[in-house]
Amino acid sequence: MQTRPCWVEIRTHSLEENYRFLQSLAAPHTELLAIVKADAYGHSLGLCAPAAVRAGAHWLGVTSVEEGIAARAACPEPRVLVIGGVFPGQGAAALEHGLTAVAWEPYQFEELEAAARAAGAQPGTVPVHLEIDTGMSRQGVLPAGLAPVLARFGAASPLKLEAVMTHLYASDEANGAATTTQLARLEEAVRQVLAAGLKPEWLNVGATAALVGGDAETIAALAARSGLKTMMRPGFALYGLVPRFEPEEPADVAAARARLQPVLSWKTKVVGLRFIPAGAVVGYNGTFVATEPMRLALLAVGYADGLDRHLGNHFSLLVRGERAPIIGRVSMDQTVVDVTDIPGVQVGDEIVILGHQGKDAITAFDLADDTETIPWEVFTRIAPRVRRVAV
Ligand SMILES: *Cc1c(COP(=O)(O)O)cnc(C)c1O
Repeated sequence: MQTRPCWVEIRTHSLEENYRFLQSLAAPHTELLAIVKADAYGHSLGLCAPAAVRAGAHWLGVTSVEEGIAARAACPEPRVLVIGGVFPGQGAAALEHGLTAVAWEPYQFEELEAAARAAGAQPGTVPVHLEIDTGMSRQGVLPAGLAPVLARFGAASPLKLEAVMTHLYASDEANGAATTTQLARLEEAVRQVLAAGLKPEWLNVGATAALVGGDAETIAALAARSGLKTMMRPGFALYGLVPRFEPEEPADVAAARARLQPVLSWKTKVVGLRFIPAGAVVGYNGTFVATEPMRLALLAVGYADGLDRHLGNHFSLLVRGERAPIIGRVSMDQTVVDVTDIPGVQVGDEIVILGHQGKDAITAFDLADDTETIPWEVFTRIAPRVRRVAV
């Protein structure tokens, strides 16, 4: 059956090219784990995870065991890292589906140890990525608290320390001191790990900003000094975007932005047209009053689809390659645009909410700026009911 005309188009080929380009930016032996959490940033895990794997990804990153199970169903081959860790009662499912957990809380280690023993795992066979809190105060063990955690990986433990991991919180601050401090704390933590006789394979650090902003070499050098291989975790750039760097943008960042291709377009259609006379009001509470006769188009998209209500009377969408201002409030399922000055608009015309049309384009940054958020949130707020179609 045809569905309501509000959909997202995913160019999986662009995602593949983005992954290959990012791999060319990274040091040759750096492994790029593809972050596909939150349904691939709203782009559809089912479409994007296989595309990343086709492009060469050996690792996928998800938030939860639930997401990991979905990633495993889409992709039998790659390693799947659960970056949000396991919750009580999830260890068995994580093992059963071949998921690898990031861990830092005692209850997570206990959950994984118990599940591994219950499954009859041999000592040192269940890999874990240990997160270090190098300054973000969100996840991870502080370097000062490492000793008891490292002691858990004794000879009898079913767990194996496969990677030391951390998350950088300010790698979009060009020449920022924060990253330098974080990496120094990470190196101190790695020293402790090695001194405890543990031999992790990977140093797992750095998201998009670190990869495109010039920290990749520093990270690879740190890993090499410690005898570890480097793993980085790009998300945003896979989907074709690069964060804005403050206070100014390194030249490499602009070059990467020019090469990466946005993967997602969001579209709807004109589902009704009407003329209104001067004095007519439009939408809930009559926040828009026509001062002259107008031609309006009704669109099959609303805030329940993820179109932010604050865009009402504030933003324009694309039809016939031109900007049609949203007038009145955005409703739950519908939005009205002004097409008075755009000749020939008909029922069935395609509307672009996010993406290219003709010579113009609306980017996730445009939508984010107008609603005081970030593009990551614009993407992840596109509702599940909006179907994702590969193109
Ligand atoms: C989301 C996330 C990433 C990816 O970040 P981007 O800025 O989207 O590239 C990497 N690592 C962790 C731990 C994350 O939570």
